[in-house]
Amino acid sequence: MTAYETFKFSVDSDGIATAVFDVPGRSMNTLTATVLKEITLIAERIGADPAIKGAVITSGKTSGFCAGADLGEMGENAGGDARLSEQERLQRAFDSAYGFNKVLRGLETCGKPIAAAINGLALGGGLEVTLACHYRVVSDSPKIQLGLPESKIGLLPGGGGTQRLPRLIGAQKALELINAGNPVSPQEAVKIGIVHATAAPGTEVSTAKDWIRAKGDPVQPWDKKDYKVPGGTPHSPGGAGVFTIGNALLRKNSYGNYPAQKFIMSCVYEGLQVPMDAALRIESRYFAKLLMHPAAKNMIRSMFLSMQELGKGARRPAGQPPSDARKVTVIGAGMMGAGIAYVQAMAGIETVLIDTTIEAAEKGKAYSAALLVKQVERGKMAKEKADAVLALIKPTTDYADVKGSDLVVEAVFENREIKAAVTKLAEAELSPGAIFGSNTSTLPITGLAEASRRPENFIGIHFFSPVDKMGLVELILGKKTAPRAVAVAIDYVKKIRKTPIVVNDSRGFYTSRCFGTYVAEGQEMLAEGIAPAIVDNVGRMTGMPRGPLELADDVALDLAYKVREQTKKDLGSAYVAGPSDALIEALVVKHGRLGRKNAKGFYDYPANKGPKTLWPGLSDLVAIEVTEADPAAVEELKKRFLYRQAVEAARCVAEGVVTDPRDGDVGAILGWGFAPWTGGPISLIDTVGLAKFVEECDRMAQAYGPRFAPPQLLRDMAARGETLYGNWKAAPKAA
Ligand code: NAD
Repeated sequence: MTAYETFKFSVDSDGIATAVFDVPGRSMNTLTATVLKEITLIAERIGADPAIKGAVITSGKTSGFCAGADLGEMGENAGGDARLSEQERLQRAFDSAYGFNKVLRGLETCGKPIAAAINGLALGGGLEVTLACHYRVVSDSPKIQLGLPESKIGLLPGGGGTQRLPRLIGAQKALELINAGNPVSPQEAVKIGIVHATAAPGTEVSTAKDWIRAKGDPVQPWDKKDYKVPGGTPHSPGGAGVFTIGNALLRKNSYGNYPAQKFIMSCVYEGLQVPMDAALRIESRYFAKLLMHPAAKNMIRSMFLSMQELGKGARRPAGQPPSDARKVTVIGAGMMGAGIAYVQAMAGIETVLIDTTIEAAEKGKAYSAALLVKQVERGKMAKEKADAVLALIKPTTDYADVKGSDLVVEAVFENREIKAAVTKLAEAELSPGAIFGSNTSTLPITGLAEASRRPENFIGIHFFSPVDKMGLVELILGKKTAPRAVAVAIDYVKKIRKTPIVVNDSRGFYTSRCFGTYVAEGQEMLAEGIAPAIVDNVGRMTGMPRGPLELADDVALDLAYKVREQTKKDLGSAYVAGPSDALIEALVVKHGRLGRKNAKGFYDYPANKGPKTLWPGLSDLVAIEVTEADPAAVEELKKRFLYRQAVEAARCVAEGVVTDPRDGDVGAILGWGFAPWTGGPISLIDTVGLAKFVEECDRMAQAYGPRFAPPQLLRDMAARGETLYGNWKAAPKAA
């Protein structure tokens, strides 16, 4: 019997073949060129061999069925070979995408019934392989995810997903799933109609064989004469609404920033009107076009490759032995400390939670208890497991409990003296090798480390709120922080399943500093007389999750005021006042408008939790002159928002705060929601081109103020025709 490299093939006494998908040397199956070639060979063999009645495809990996395409390869191919013409690049991308479609079309038309026995996660191309099978049964495990997540990284399902899924479950539901990219559980998949049945784990293959023996239909529904698209085709009365309303909704939610979602709509709309073979060509054409789009290349790089690399510890200093934080003390059981204790306990870390009173410490623990109860109620966690997690948290006021901790995370009030005091108290109990991390959001680490007896073991471990939802942790190196502290902190961040970035010390570090520019730019616009509704709407149109004014309200206006006053004091004559300084001062000092926390900020927040409305008094503080913005004016405002943040990121690179563009891009997207379609501010600058970016920043500095002035480094690099990623790849720098 012919052997395959990526499948184990056998035929049982009933004439049913089993192809066990098992790419050698890999922990997870992905769709390599060899896999695709072998699927074709197997389909041809099943079709041609009269002794084979049908076949089951399953996985030999415990990690899953198949995770889809190799995104490393895809990222390399995105944008195409620069030496080729645009037409040639498109043609190559089309040939490759259509090649995959032909493989799967060959499988579903081989003439014999093919069943997928899905015994682990099937995502992207992995699920598409199963959609090309005539029957799908999935192991009934809540750990399994099925989905087409391509749009999350700026792509579309290019293995027939945009054609088979709507033909199975209707355009509306398919578009919802493909555009959101969120996976579903086996139970949901059956309910929606993506798979035919669930089976007890371990019985998927026998269930699949039962189907082949009992029914074994070798023709897909869409290849049958009487086939009708569920919910109707795009021109039927039912189907038409999906696209008119769907396009409007898409525009409302994404502001047209994501070409992938637009193309997905087109694939489904056009594809459903023609037979499958033509439909797959349509999909491949859109896929190729997308792969050449800068948004796809940037999103694949930042949202997948870089995130994965950082998550695996790409920034871990070389030569440091592995560490494992088993016991970690959290000092300060407030909003942040309570969240940190929860994620630690969830990762199995013995957690000491210290506050000034036992009530405060217990309140911090109660936060975890509430989250765990919710998980148990939703059936996501067994009661015993929840109890065990909660038991890992010890609330206390006694520093003797710190003894034996591998790491301390300090999250007390943002006050230098209090932080210094708790550093000393904890260090008195710590073993010499233990690491001390501060969750400060603004105080420079080098200064805080002065309170430490061992500043080499002192590091910034900056979490984001809410801690259990936010995936990023920004690690900040003080002047004396040693590589071992970085390694231990990275190992800890990995253990609590978050993504670490590593930056050098600076006022506001990287993320707070750049995020602040977005909020500040919105206030500058308002102070210039641009209507606040325009300011917030345009902010969202850039792809930021919220408008700058509503964000300022969330963060608290008095905090912004205090930070500015402190900055003014620290910088002295170097401080450049902006037009919004007076506005914030008037809001906070004169009108007592502190933001969402006292229900009065740029917006009024009704007591009944109804929708917020802009505070009418704003027009007494600023003369609103711009109440309508034409498309060109909107583009200029969008550019101000994006470039203002990007130029700050570039300054962080120039000052050595950010030393790795992956930190810059991933930190921006995960940390403050920087427009994901750009791939992050560093990708944005490279995509615009340094020369053009510098030219635009110079123009905006003239028009709006020196805050837009590009750093000298960008000018020099632009003059040399360099890119930020290109330079870093040529000579990566250590943090
Ligand atoms: P918080 O006011 O909610 O909590 C602070 C906690 O520290 C309180 O429970 C307080 O009782 C306790 N505390 C004060 N003095 C203490 C002492 N001497 N010993 C032990 N406990 C003491 O504040 P928070 O929002 O959780 O912020 C804590 C830290 O995290 C600050 O440094 C802040 O800048 C930083 N941070 C906050 C956010 C955020 O979004 N809130 C985000 C990132 C970082």
